Amino acid sequence: MDDIFSRPKLSAAERNFRSRIAQLASGRWFLRGTLSHRSGKCGKPNCRCARGELHSSLYLVQSQQGKPRQICVPQAWQARVRQAVHDYQQMQHLIEEVSELEWKRLRERKP
Ligand SMILES: [Zn+2]
Repeated sequence: MDDIFSRPKLSAAERNFRSRIAQLASGRWFLRGTLSHRSGKCGKPNCRCARGELHSSLYLVQSQQGKPRQICVPQAWQARVRQAVHDYQQMQHLIEEVSELEWKRLRERKP
């Protein structure tokens, strides 16, 4: 079988990128976007925020088909969402590295 993953021409660097992609791909959540902290008032007149102690909220912001959108991340989800955003960026970085190696292979016409 002509399995590209076991192709002997892969460099050690490329095998390393590919194995990290495989590890990352299994059992992780991925979220594209950036996290942004905002502080504001909830609107309740008796709340501490009305006296100047603003609430801090975490938002996930992303561009979807050219339009920006955002979603508030509840406290209970923050660790998971932070991890998913981090893993997405990590995956994107690894795929970019593999793409760059493939670009060089194409340029040099080395199969
Ligand atoms: Zn409030």
